[in-house]
Amino acid sequence: MNRTKNILTDTFGREHTYLRISLTERCNLRCTYCRPADGIPLLPKSHLMNFEEIYTIAKTFVNHGVTKIRLTGGEPLVRKDAHLILEKLATLPVELAITTNAVTVDRFVDSFKKYGIETINVSLDSLDPEKFKQITRRDYFRKVYANIMLLIDYGFKVKLNTVLMKGFNEDEIVNFIKFTKGHPVTVRFIEFMPFDGNKWNLEKMVSYKDVMTSVNNGFSENRVIRLQDAPNDTSKNYKIEGYLGSFAIISSVTNPFCDTCNRLRLTADGHLKNCLFSAAESDLLTTLRDGKSIEPVIRKAVQLKLKMRGGMNTLEKLKNPELHEKNRSMITIGG
Ligand code: SF4
Repeated sequence: MNRTKNILTDTFGREHTYLRISLTERCNLRCTYCRPADGIPLLPKSHLMNFEEIYTIAKTFVNHGVTKIRLTGGEPLVRKDAHLILEKLATLPVELAITTNAVTVDRFVDSFKKYGIETINVSLDSLDPEKFKQITRRDYFRKVYANIMLLIDYGFKVKLNTVLMKGFNEDEIVNFIKFTKGHPVTVRFIEFMPFDGNKWNLEKMVSYKDVMTSVNNGFSENRVIRLQDAPNDTSKNYKIEGYLGSFAIISSVTNPFCDTCNRLRLTADGHLKNCLFSAAESDLLTTLRDGKSIEPVIRKAVQLKLKMRGGMNTLEKLKNPELHEKNRSMITIGG
């Protein structure tokens, strides 16, 4: 691997070692902040990467320094060949991880073990079955909760991704943290972010500061421990003294972490996004299908990466809906 000319290092010196691959735009939930209310036009299957193409593109990134691959969606496990994709990618020298809504995870725990997946992020925005139904538009809370317990029992490192929204679940912050008392999980509170079709506005967002206010109201300050964040970490990590688990805040709106960004994203239709918020994309799949090298396309995309939030480097720009609409909806990016 030739680090000096590494095609995954951008003009700010950030080395991109983490590739997030969206396997599908389909999902078995309908979360209001992710999937536009009136749905999305699903791409024909022929427009989506097949498992060989996923493997070939992933291998190219690994050859240039990617050490971690996370599978996302939509919901990655609704893909009929999900087991095959896990098997293929597990042959690469990378840390393989997955983000799932856990509705069908019970069918995959043995495959996860077999293919060396250790960390599983589960999207869960409420511990209240009725609220879960309200936000996901599906009545699967008990199934998801049971599957989270199953993952813990199997010894997986479980992180719960919780998107906070004012007037919906900010009153559950303390309960989510109390959940980490007896369960070795990390609850990650995510600031609500603007994407096409999710009706975002700043007033709906629960900020890092808001979360810490709830924490300090719910727990005596001397029991709230600030943990060391890992390099390239997107979250600020804490734990309550004596609790098995921990909690964290992902604050890309109020405290962005772009300086240490090491992430690139591949959409289900094989487009490379150099940033979650960037509307610009590079079509790797067509290049691959044309029998051409994808490396120059990857290099160019990384060289064009902007310093912060795809150019939305101020809150004013982030608040501009025209910029959100240029980007995709969250369900077709995969977070
Ligand atoms: S907003 Fe873009 S640059 Fe910033 S951390 Fe996220 S992906 Fe990286």
